[in-house]
Amino acid sequence: MIRQYELVERVSAYDPNADEALLNRAYVFSLTAHGSQTRASGDPYFSHPVEVAGILTEYRLDTATIVTALLHDTVEDTVATIDEIGEVFGPEIAKLVDGVTKLSKLELRPEANQQAENLRKLVLAMSDDIRVLLVKLADRLHNMRTLHYLANPDKRRRIAAETMEIYAPLAERLGMQRIKQELEDISFVELNPEARDSVLRRLEYLRAGTGNLAEKISAELQQVLSEAGIVAEVSGREKTPFSIWRKMQRDNVTFEQLADIVAFRIVVDSIPDCYQALGVVHGEYPMVPDRFKDYISTPKRNGYRSIHTAVIGPGNSRVEIQIRTRQMHQVAELGVAAHWQYKQQLTPKDGSQYRWLQELLEILEHAHSPEEFLEHTKLEMFHDQVFCFTPRGEVIALPRGATPVDFAYAVHTDVGDTCVGAKVNGRTVPLRTELGNGDQVEILRSKTPAPDPAWENVVATGKARSAIRRAVRNKQRDEYRRLGSAIAEKAFREAGHEFTERALENVLRTLNMSSVEEVYVALGDGTLSSRQLLERVFPGERRWYSRGAFDAINRMLPARLRRSGVPRGDGEAGLPIRGLTPGVAVHYAECCHPLPGDRIVGVMTKGRGVDIHTIDCERLEGAQDDPEAWMDLRWDVDPAEPGEHVGRIVAVVSNEPGSLSNLSSVIARNMGNISNLKITNRSQDFFDMQLDIEVSDLKHLTDIIAALRATPCISSVERVRG
Ligand code: MN
Repeated sequence: MIRQYELVERVSAYDPNADEALLNRAYVFSLTAHGSQTRASGDPYFSHPVEVAGILTEYRLDTATIVTALLHDTVEDTVATIDEIGEVFGPEIAKLVDGVTKLSKLELRPEANQQAENLRKLVLAMSDDIRVLLVKLADRLHNMRTLHYLANPDKRRRIAAETMEIYAPLAERLGMQRIKQELEDISFVELNPEARDSVLRRLEYLRAGTGNLAEKISAELQQVLSEAGIVAEVSGREKTPFSIWRKMQRDNVTFEQLADIVAFRIVVDSIPDCYQALGVVHGEYPMVPDRFKDYISTPKRNGYRSIHTAVIGPGNSRVEIQIRTRQMHQVAELGVAAHWQYKQQLTPKDGSQYRWLQELLEILEHAHSPEEFLEHTKLEMFHDQVFCFTPRGEVIALPRGATPVDFAYAVHTDVGDTCVGAKVNGRTVPLRTELGNGDQVEILRSKTPAPDPAWENVVATGKARSAIRRAVRNKQRDEYRRLGSAIAEKAFREAGHEFTERALENVLRTLNMSSVEEVYVALGDGTLSSRQLLERVFPGERRWYSRGAFDAINRMLPARLRRSGVPRGDGEAGLPIRGLTPGVAVHYAECCHPLPGDRIVGVMTKGRGVDIHTIDCERLEGAQDDPEAWMDLRWDVDPAEPGEHVGRIVAVVSNEPGSLSNLSSVIARNMGNISNLKITNRSQDFFDMQLDIEVSDLKHLTDIIAALRATPCISSVERVRG
């Protein structure tokens, strides 16, 4: 295990500005916090954060990153809290540790390729600061190095799969080739031991057959270059079993030659030297066609630069060669960390420790295709996206601001249409809740589709919005049709005729409509009045619809409603509104809040359907100029499903302690639910309040009003009418 002074020395060796006191404090804090915890290997747990910090010193990372590495498991695994870390180490470190902790809580189970890509994006999106990701990668690397100590083979395989699909590709994107290869090769041990063994056996065999050929080739290349006056370091490096195996898989080839297992590298001082060395090698040996790639003039998206070529080299064996400068070599080995290092050397104390991050982003911004750009690491890129999980662990990518309704529609249109509620991370939440990265979302569904038109205001995706509109339109049309068919039947009956659809079919042409359904919809949404329909079906029979008839009805009405078309009687002859969804074809008026039990009338508005008012609503007076728009309605409530309705009352409550809680407990005792409460006036002695109460019907509201009137602190209660 790396000792305290050793770690501090390592950091100060490459970073003269390192905060040694902070490093020392973090070392002791983590040591104390992890106490006597042990790892599966039997080592003290503390050895793990120290090793992770050690890995990051190889990449010469700043004090904050090393401190974060030391502390990275304290919040998850010990009694330490983020607040405590903030107090002791400051907000920057607390934010970094929090970021790593959140990443560690994710259980990423990639199943399909598409999934893996989204999961990688999720990890990137959650790493607000790239140092979070660097610590996470080092953490994963050390956990992989000690993976074999875990007794449970399923767990080992799961971790290996996650590493292979998520973390190794992320390391590659950050240009951290060495970490990437090591992660892959350890995962390979778990995921496909047979394949790895066979690659290893084959390597043995090739090595035995060729002896120290790699050394001979290196020496000869070195010789050829120095004769041409080029100062170069030549080395041969055996590929990892996994990279050999993947190449076999990908190119569908077997490996037979040394070129398949050893890559030679020529490191020179300058870019002109790279091209000169290339010229020398190509002049000396025949080149293998189609293997030349110039990543110096066209760097890879992660910043990697080199010239790649293959020649028929010494001893007539095919040889793969990479040519690069020393600086390119360091970038290839260290990735993003190298950029930071160079920046530090070039402009020490420029005051900005984030310069290297800036640099990384610049490289990534210059990636070649938009797709690459999207895929690769510009962290802010993902700030406008959130990645959430289904209960089965699939990832759903959504724009920021998305709600469970968006999530439901993203899963499937049917799921969206039948959504009635949602749980986020196991807790029931309102559907307008904004989702966050890593949230697990479970959609609660009804048997029948019932999208709420109001959802249009809570969704962030176009897909959800258009699906809601479509579903609402379908439902609306369906309800208009049902309402219209009832209107037609009633109109026939009142005109003294038997209703037949045949009669409607006969007048389709004169109505300029193509189906009976269309007639119903027009009647339901108010674009066709029943009188217009009857005039077509029974031309000449006008007596029933004369103003005289309306006037006769009017005379029986209360004076203030006269001249209108309000029907008389108890409403039993009215159209039933059972089964029609409020807000679709019928709308309960906001002025009078009609309840089952109230005598109701409807006012037809063209293209909107029916507004329902209580018969004594004051607003009706404004609508009396158009008697034909009036409809006689009745509730016809299904006793099994009474439904919820909102009744509105005003109360005058004495301004004394406890009066408000008295009021609400009286309502609650009477099974009413206050859905809105507003104090409209407050004086020395009294509150004027307006309350919306969810009740089942008029009797329910009347009972509540009676109970309130009997409450001492309440001086008056009235139902609101218009
Ligand atoms: Mn860890």
